[in-house]
Amino acid sequence: MRAFTYTQASDAPAALQAVIKNPEAKFIGGGTNLVDLMREGVERPNEVVDINSLPFKQIEELPDGGVRLGALARNSHTANHPLVRQRYPVLAQALLSAASPQLRNLATNAGNLLQRTRCYYFYDVTAPCNKRQPGSGCAAIHSVNRIHAILGTSEQCIATHPSDMAVALSVLDATVQVQGTEAARTIPIEEFHRLPGDTPERDTNLGHDELITAIDLPAVPFATNSLYLKVRDRPSYAFALVSVAAVLELEDKQIKNVRLALGGVAHKPWRAHAAEAALLGKPATVENFRQAAEAELQTAIAYEHNAFKIELAKRTIVRALLTLTERQPLA
Ligand SMILES: Cc1cc2nc3c(=O)[nH]c(=O)nc-3n(C[C@H](O)[C@H](O)[C@H](O)COP(=O)(O)OP(=O)(O)OC[C@H]3O[C@@H](n4cnc5c(N)ncnc54)[C@H](O)[C@@H]3O)c2cc1C
Ligand code: SF4
Repeated sequence: MRAFTYTQASDAPAALQAVIKNPEAKFIGGGTNLVDLMREGVERPNEVVDINSLPFKQIEELPDGGVRLGALARNSHTANHPLVRQRYPVLAQALLSAASPQLRNLATNAGNLLQRTRCYYFYDVTAPCNKRQPGSGCAAIHSVNRIHAILGTSEQCIATHPSDMAVALSVLDATVQVQGTEAARTIPIEEFHRLPGDTPERDTNLGHDELITAIDLPAVPFATNSLYLKVRDRPSYAFALVSVAAVLELEDKQIKNVRLALGGVAHKPWRAHAAEAALLGKPATVENFRQAAEAELQTAIAYEHNAFKIELAKRTIVRALLTLTERQPLA
């Protein structure tokens, strides 16, 4: 393991100064991903900047009816907070479906968004991997790729993003609040993570010299009827093969509002705009759900071992929508 310096930042400007002075420095939140990556030699910062003393741990109501999640609030605190449980069940469920209680007690909201892919070859420093070492190739494309992406892939990388939380944030149209040295900015969640294209080494559009301070959830009154459905190899302590975050509002048995996003299928949470467009204003029937799922997966590309994900994604969309239809009191 490479030797590194440990710095404790007392406030946000000090944290930002530390990473600006040192391009190899990294912030550390709960450390549940960064420390693993350092142990494996995948991440090799020469300095870690501990941001745990910064005042970003609150979960609070916003004046417009939304909710602000502090960047350093722990995943367990966020999942169990009454504002999240009552207004955004999809988010509470996504968080509780992830990792283990011990990990969720340590993992922060910002760290969750920035966790890196679970592609086996990314973790194996002896394998070629464009994400870990740009230009070295992609070991996954012609090898075992059962857990890999089917949407938005490139010839450079077919990895998936592992966060469950991010998929739920996608259907809530959350925004990521970011502090830079000069100014603060807001990044819509859909623009936060990137598709691999020719630069798979970049997971997100966050700069090295930017600190996440909070994640804002707008008011989404119909999100009280929402669901996170995660399909995985084991019933707990496993990443998604496919997951669906769904929000549904019916009026006279017609779909008045619907939002869908997929996890485990792409380099970023995959907001299912084609499926949403196919469903709006239609009767809530299995046939319409299936047609919408077909529309969304039309552009999916399978690799040698992951073709099953295409049908699995379609069925998971249908099941999530059926579950929400049955739960919704009919107007
Ligand atoms: C065994 C295991 C199983 C897991 N299963 C799941 C699962 O099923 N689903 C799931 O979603 N996750 C799962 N996880 C991942 C877990 O959710 C993440 O490791 C965790 O959320 C990361 O948060 P952290 O605070 O520990 O991040 P850290 O490890 O501290 O940091 C991660 C990254 O974020 C950066 N960072 C942290 N905070 C900030 C900030 N405020 N601003 C800018 N950059 C920042 C760090 O520099 C680092 O690059 C699992 C993890 C393990 C170890
Ligand atoms: S899929 Fe991406 S992360 Fe995995 S080996 Fe290929 S380039 Fe690396």
